Amino acid sequence: MKVVCPFCFHKALITSRNILNDDKTISDLYCSCTNTKDCAATFVYTLAYKHVLNHPVRTTAEMAFNLVNTLTKEEKASLRRDLLPDPA
Ligand SMILES: [Zn+2]
Repeated sequence: MKVVCPFCFHKALITSRNILNDDKTISDLYCSCTNTKDCAATFVYTLAYKHVLNHPVRTTAEMAFNLVNTLTKEEKASLRRDLLPDPA
């Protein structure tokens, strides 16, 4: 993860992290500007999980399995035909 100094826009280093919630999805990142000659600022960024773009594979497979189990026998057979066509 790249952190930029908000004062001089040079690269900054994360020197420590303070986790703020039990789910470990929000943290304060204590940072130090690497432009020590002209800036040397220290500051805190907040890092927070926002939302998912792609669910973990295991979650997706579980969701598909549970969804398929709600189908009738005929719907499952139809789905099987659509997903696994007979070899020609
Ligand atoms: Zn700086």
